[in-house]
Amino acid sequence: MNKPAIMTPDGVEEAHEAEGRRRLVYPFEEGPEIGAGVDVAPGVKWIRMPLGGSLAYINVWAIADGDGWAIVDTGLNSEASMQAWRKAFAGVLQGKRVTRVFITHMHPDHIGMAGWITRRFKCRLWISRLEFLMCRSLAADTGREAPPDALEFYRAAGWDQDALETYRARFGGFGRALHALPDSFQRMRDGDEIEIGGHVWQVVVGSGHTPEHVCLWCPEMKLMISGDQVLPKITSNVSVFPTEPTADPLDDWLTSLARIKTIVPDDVLVLPAHNEPFHGLHARIDALIGGHERRLAYLHAEIAEPKRAVDVFHVLFRRKIDGGNIGMATGESIAHLNCLMARGLARRTTDDQGVDWYRAA
Ligand SMILES: [Zn+2]
Repeated sequence: MNKPAIMTPDGVEEAHEAEGRRRLVYPFEEGPEIGAGVDVAPGVKWIRMPLGGSLAYINVWAIADGDGWAIVDTGLNSEASMQAWRKAFAGVLQGKRVTRVFITHMHPDHIGMAGWITRRFKCRLWISRLEFLMCRSLAADTGREAPPDALEFYRAAGWDQDALETYRARFGGFGRALHALPDSFQRMRDGDEIEIGGHVWQVVVGSGHTPEHVCLWCPEMKLMISGDQVLPKITSNVSVFPTEPTADPLDDWLTSLARIKTIVPDDVLVLPAHNEPFHGLHARIDALIGGHERRLAYLHAEIAEPKRAVDVFHVLFRRKIDGGNIGMATGESIAHLNCLMARGLARRTTDDQGVDWYRAA
């Protein structure tokens, strides 16, 4: 029996038998304790920050950079993260300064402490432009009422009044998981080459989990910091949100994964934001793409009879969907349905209650 999948804001943890997983090799037996570090390559340290949810940690990385450390990703804004960072600064990072903070993407477990660290060390935030702007725009929702467009979007997906009320009550939580962002940044673009501590790292952008997610690849050291773009045991969350109801992020996701496979060779050690460092990048990318294509095929069969977004959760998720994860399940379901529509394989009609029904074309 496969264990039930765990859902997290970053994605769904897969059952152990998932295809492709057996071909991955994990060279490190033990990960670091929170706030401590493990060397994964000369001058590159693996550090963990606490999350306190169903995922216990996020991996962050410190790269020797002249007289200090460049940091990649930072953890959620919390007292526990501050404690862990103080421990890391004094311990594994040997009391040296932080030279710059690189952020893979704008989710709070990655960017949450960026403002705190950049202010403390008076150093620069490095991030892609879309991630910075998207983060600013989501943080600006804090304190606002849930907008009518968003309620209409979830009503169209088939949510009942209780679910809509819960959404209304929780709306605007994003900004609270962030320390105040820096007001300026250094832009990273796909293909940029950045020297860090005498080694060149290339920016490789992916899309679909977030719009302009940065991976950092060092050909010389055969390392790739993958953020949430390639995770070994989790299928990253790819969702449609109310701000752009007709978006097709799954196409972005599949296209960018296939593109990364053509750029980054298979012999890198992948340093992911969750789970453990692994070898087997290309096998993992194949398994991720194959998994989504299979789910698209099941979904296409499922909508032989018209269905709402809330009627197809069982096709995409093994576990029961409840108030805690209905937002993510809905976003992922609509991402798959929008992808089928873009491929000409599904049609959507809206009934007189404003609810959307999908049917195979
Ligand atoms: Zn993420």
